Amino acid sequence: DPQLNRQYTFENFVEGDCNRLARSAGYAVAAKPGGTSFNPLMIYGGVGLGKTHLAQAIGNEIKRTLPDKLVLYVSCEKFTQQFVDALKHNNINDFVNFYQAIDVLIMDDVHNFAGKEKTQDFFFHIFNHLHQSGKQLIITSDKAPKDLAGLEERLLSRFKWGLSADLQIPDLETRMAILKNKTYQDGIDLGDDVIEYVAHNIDNNVRELEGAMVSLLAQSTLNRKEIDLNLAKQMLKNFVKNSSKEISMEYIQSLVCEYFEVPIEMVKSQTRKREIVQARQISMYLAKAHTKSSLKSIGSFFGGRDHSTVIYACQTVEDLIDTDKKFKGYVADIQKKLKMS
Ligand code: ADP
Ligand code: MG
Repeated sequence: DPQLNRQYTFENFVEGDCNRLARSAGYAVAAKPGGTSFNPLMIYGGVGLGKTHLAQAIGNEIKRTLPDKLVLYVSCEKFTQQFVDALKHNNINDFVNFYQAIDVLIMDDVHNFAGKEKTQDFFFHIFNHLHQSGKQLIITSDKAPKDLAGLEERLLSRFKWGLSADLQIPDLETRMAILKNKTYQDGIDLGDDVIEYVAHNIDNNVRELEGAMVSLLAQSTLNRKEIDLNLAKQMLKNFVKNSSKEISMEYIQSLVCEYFEVPIEMVKSQTRKREIVQARQISMYLAKAHTKSSLKSIGSFFGGRDHSTVIYACQTVEDLIDTDKKFKGYVADIQKKLKMS
């Protein structure tokens, strides 16, 4: 099964206060897919806190114990892409039939549905069909259903039907346990002092924790040095330094267009279609806020416009942020993606 990564199991999902409820709910769902009140099971939490791992662990466990069940893992992005392709090639029916036949649907990162109204509508119908047929849905997102901006109310209300369980940042003890588990899995020898030092200093999320360890290993190999506390201290300095990159206007443009499902070249065109104008204005606003580019160069980048157009765009966006909650959510979402890059 190409969609499920076999490495993501319950066994190597270290338990802690940060994930206890989500983990045990996941376990219950895996034992009785569609047969508990945890339907959908909604797992939410910040980047790198284990949403994908836990969701896939449920899928893997079901495949192991109930091999007849049809389990599908799909990211929201991939689903969107499939939907767009199906529309383009006129085979929506096949697409619907395929999804309606699934016993356990794992939909990862549903916050990415924000702004994609057509895809959301479509998912809404698939959701209803599966739920009514007693099939299990497992959904992950970066926020609690009540805080998900840019998603339709009727879809959000479905998400609230089952159980929402969050993943939080692991405490020091759990971070150490995760590192130990990882070193054990990979057959690496790390001293307790190193583990404690890394766990103490990297406290954002689990992915960074693992990243620090990979970086530590790489540097030890490269410099033919043992992984000791000194190397860990040196590595951590580089690790933190490497994490801030410059943001370009190209990048802003691609992010905004992907978010609103608009073709990238349209933003630079002369069209005045509402959704394109909105994408263009938000791009300009973000370019002003997050790059060092002048108003003049922002204007010329986004289709040869002058600086007063950029000022107008920024004002429009600021006004909408103040008055339109949904719009504010869109901008906040995109901004968050920018910062993650
Ligand atoms: P998310 O989907 O929330 O962004 P991931 O599921 O991709 O996060 O997790 C990031 C990394 O951290 C993965 O390699 C995952 O295996 C690891 N990880 C997260 N939580 C745990 C945990 N409790 N125990 C072990 N590994 C974890
Ligand atoms: Mg993920």
